[in-house]
Amino acid sequence: MRAKIVAANWKMNKALPQAIELMQAITFGLRQNPASCKVVIAPPFVYLERLVTETTGLAEVAAQNCCSRNNGAYTGEVSAGMIESVGATYCIVGHSERRQLYAETPDVLEAKLQRCYDHNLTPIFCIGENHLERTEERHFEVVAQQLEYVLFNFTVEHAAKTVIAYEPVWAIGTGLTASPEQAQEMHSFIRRQIATKFGQELADNITILYGGSCNAQNAAGLFTKEDIDGGLIGGAALVADDFLKICNELR
Ligand code: PEP
Repeated sequence: MRAKIVAANWKMNKALPQAIELMQAITFGLRQNPASCKVVIAPPFVYLERLVTETTGLAEVAAQNCCSRNNGAYTGEVSAGMIESVGATYCIVGHSERRQLYAETPDVLEAKLQRCYDHNLTPIFCIGENHLERTEERHFEVVAQQLEYVLFNFTVEHAAKTVIAYEPVWAIGTGLTASPEQAQEMHSFIRRQIATKFGQELADNITILYGGSCNAQNAAGLFTKEDIDGGLIGGAALVADDFLKICNELR
């Protein structure tokens, strides 16, 4: 049985009082109406420690990124060890905004995955094609390469500690969602790639999330697809009621 997860990526939003308020509204909602999936919240770095104390076992906390190095003279960076030390348990790696805006290459992402494995953080490894790649019908090739250049450099034991998030870049923050059929087609492809590389057992057990304008209206349709094990939610995760509804759509 693979883990079902709804994860929130708050990106660079909210000051501390609003972040606490949102987390409290989410935990209140989860206490009233428990979700049948794991709930993971990825706030900005500076709120990690504070928000870990707010989760009271109802959710887990993720970082949105980590440094590719362990420690040392890397001004402004935050290491996986530091993230672990404040009680966060997940870390998003390779989000398309990091790949595009901060030029994160496969080598850097491989190092970040290694840092996560070294520090007991479950990486949520993001992959997905951009609009041009989809229109040129290269989306399967692109996603296969993103797996091959990064995740496939690890052992099956490491890969088993990973959550994959398929996030078509053309759907992130655009209001354009992949249809449930498009998402299912890619999730099933990713699972087959995992089976070929690491074996059927891992393919059957690895969690693959969908991300890209998933919201309270369209989550149910996506989550009924057999290879979609939950979602990585951006904009819709900033409103507690919407996020809770999404969590409750995953059964
Ligand atoms: C994301 O940033 O991971 C994401 C899925 O964003 P949105 O839901 O806003 O498209």
